[in-house]
Amino acid sequence: MTDRLYYKYSDYLKDKYNNKVYKIPVNINTTCPNRDGTIGFGGCIFCGEEGAGFELLDKENSIKKQIKENKEFIVKKYKAEKFIIYFQNYTNTYLKLDIFKRYILDSIGDDVVEIAISTRPDCITDDILLFLKEIKNEYNININFELGLQTCNYKTLKKLNRGHTLAEFIFAVNKLKKYNFEICTHIILNLPWDDEEDVVENAKILSGLEIDTVKIHSLYILKDTLLGNLYERNEIKIIDKNEYLKMMVLFLEYLNPDIGIQRLFSRAPKERTLFCNWDTSWWKLKDQLIEFIKEKSTYQGKKFNYLEPKVVKNN
Ligand code: SF4
Repeated sequence: MTDRLYYKYSDYLKDKYNNKVYKIPVNINTTCPNRDGTIGFGGCIFCGEEGAGFELLDKENSIKKQIKENKEFIVKKYKAEKFIIYFQNYTNTYLKLDIFKRYILDSIGDDVVEIAISTRPDCITDDILLFLKEIKNEYNININFELGLQTCNYKTLKKLNRGHTLAEFIFAVNKLKKYNFEICTHIILNLPWDDEEDVVENAKILSGLEIDTVKIHSLYILKDTLLGNLYERNEIKIIDKNEYLKMMVLFLEYLNPDIGIQRLFSRAPKERTLFCNWDTSWWKLKDQLIEFIKEKSTYQGKKFNYLEPKVVKNN
């Protein structure tokens, strides 16, 4: 039994850096190969025109300016001392190598301990990895890749129009591990085509692959998207809030307790969504989740024993 209900990201960072560390999101001029026809057209069916970055600064501002503005705010508000520069929106490795290099070099500073790069599993080249390895060694900066996966159910991945299956994700993880880079994975736990078994398998696969952190998303439905059309035509069903909380608990129970939880619920501007978080604020959902975990006397990793060898033949 543990007294930790789940491994909060703030604790994960404290354990890792022994300091107050905050993330600074930056927005660069890129797009996604699943939108422009290179891999697919139209993108994932849930993705809106602006990708995932609703709260980002203007991408026309230089990286240095974005970092400076964000940093001033965070230092004042939270007395932060160390920073993670987070390339958040779209596919941040989908750039010419020299442009990518310039962005990364512009983000380095004495108080930067980590660079987090959000991208697709099928968009990571050796050139990029070799360059980042040099950065890691020269500046003593950790490199963290945030990979969108959303589900391990390869049939659902097809329905989502992700443009890759589970195999590409596993391949990318193995590759990043060889470079000693860290990996965060994005996962959605209420996809209309997934059931409890899929949610458990998500936790087991991420644990088996020794992912470092996870961002859990509750599926929201944006207006003017293919998913939005399905929703408006009543062709998909979103599980109710209690069922969702049960899914989350299940996921956490099967997840390795050493995996940090970077996010528990999605956030999206109400005016752009047809559905988001059962019209409940994310902090209320978080309170309800915690209450539910306590009621069930459970915790992250309670059922994490499935990777141990079970068959030992003595003679
Ligand atoms: S890979 Fe990411 S940015 Fe590209 S379409 Fe899908 S969700 Fe949007």
